[in-house]
Amino acid sequence: MKIYNTLTHKIEEFIPHTPEVVKMYTCGPTVYHYAHIGNLRTYIMEDVLEKTLKYVGYYVQRVMNITDVGHLTSDSDSGTDKMVDSAIKEKKSVLEIAEYYTKAFFDDCKRLNIRKPDVVSKATENVDFYIEIIVKLIKDGFAYESNGNIYFDITKLEDYYKLTNHQIDDMVVGVREGVEEDSGKKNQGDFVLWFTKSKFQDQELKWNSPFGVGYPGWHIECTGISIKNLGEFLDIHCGGVDNIFPHHTNEIAQSESFLGHKWCNYWVHGEHLNVKDAKMSKSKGNILTVSVLEEEGYNPLSYRYMCLNSHYRKILEFSFESLKSSENAYLKLLNRISMIKTEGDFQDAAYKDYNDKFMEALKDDMNTANAMTVLYDVLKDETLNGKTKLDLIRSFDKVLGLNLISELHESVHPQHEEILALIDRRAELKKEHKFTEADGIREELLERGIELIDTREGTIYKIREVE
Ligand code: AMP
Ligand code: ZN
Repeated sequence: MKIYNTLTHKIEEFIPHTPEVVKMYTCGPTVYHYAHIGNLRTYIMEDVLEKTLKYVGYYVQRVMNITDVGHLTSDSDSGTDKMVDSAIKEKKSVLEIAEYYTKAFFDDCKRLNIRKPDVVSKATENVDFYIEIIVKLIKDGFAYESNGNIYFDITKLEDYYKLTNHQIDDMVVGVREGVEEDSGKKNQGDFVLWFTKSKFQDQELKWNSPFGVGYPGWHIECTGISIKNLGEFLDIHCGGVDNIFPHHTNEIAQSESFLGHKWCNYWVHGEHLNVKDAKMSKSKGNILTVSVLEEEGYNPLSYRYMCLNSHYRKILEFSFESLKSSENAYLKLLNRISMIKTEGDFQDAAYKDYNDKFMEALKDDMNTANAMTVLYDVLKDETLNGKTKLDLIRSFDKVLGLNLISELHESVHPQHEEILALIDRRAELKKEHKFTEADGIREELLERGIELIDTREGTIYKIREVE
């Protein structure tokens, strides 16, 4: 499999540290607010990567953190604590806020068919280990105490900027949005490992440490949670491109200084979701959530479909017009698939051929748009019988996650043919303006647990899940 590696700035053959096993770490959400669909674009990309790796035969161990402490409004350790701000605003405790938005995050993920990673660990659950790391970093001369805080000294590393193309000069005060002067730092690029000189009087979460009562910086949690759960050698680390600097740059600095060797070989970053040329972000006030999409009448999976049709390393420009056309294409796709009848004998060679093409597309730096094209080629191919088509689609959907089959064929209704006939009858009635009778058919089916969904391409049916 080939993947673009931010660390080497090129597409590379992926070779894990241990053959056939992939240790994968992805930065999780800061749970002070609902995730926006820009954040979720990154989580969709990571989900597709995990599922691709499994599809092509790897055993994947995946870990994600939940940031519930230490992430300040500016990524460069200045501003206020996002969690504390949110707790004050909502008149709740930090833990209540964290619990509420963590649940909301996984609910959103579920609606987008994003699998929950095997291990999900909260920043606040691992403080003892961060302290252990920081003690060693101080002992080995990588970190120092100043003004009550513990900082990492970036000049102790020869290649601190290896992940980015940034030069030190680009990082000086004022150049980067939100960078403030911190008089405690030896070098302006140094970053906080542990805060004790808390400027937040009502900081709720504090821990005892050899450096004084305080709380960890944002970056140390990912180093700690990753090493604790995945060991000293990490294969893939993911996030959105805005994480490259400073977050991932700092994770590398801490982890490699602590371990004494190279830590992670492949860094995979997803490009942003933009709205009118600006990154979707809470601070810009241009965010949309999955619930908003639903309130506007969209199926969240239309958004997943939209993401899959663009390359993860290209900026995706969001608009409701483009979501609408994705939804139309997605529903048309579902409709076409729903028309396929399970018939014929499994066509072995053709199955393998298409499955290989699908994998080749994904192995080519996760070209999901090309993988989707293979799916459409399967639908178009008149030499393929229904059984083989459905088997291929069912298999592709393990990566695509678009519920291509589950809503329809996996649960094909015993009276499938009869339902299709009723759908046709209803369409005729509507043409004749006999709306009451047409509605009667809809209601009759609904009573039998069958929901009709009208799309531009026609009507499809869905079997209601029994709660
Ligand atoms: P946060 O909750 O702020 O830590 O962000 C969660 C993830 O979303 C990180 O991996 C970010 O890099 C990513 N992210 C933030 N904004 C966007 C955006 N507009 N488009 C895509 N990914 C984003
Ligand atoms: Zn992280």
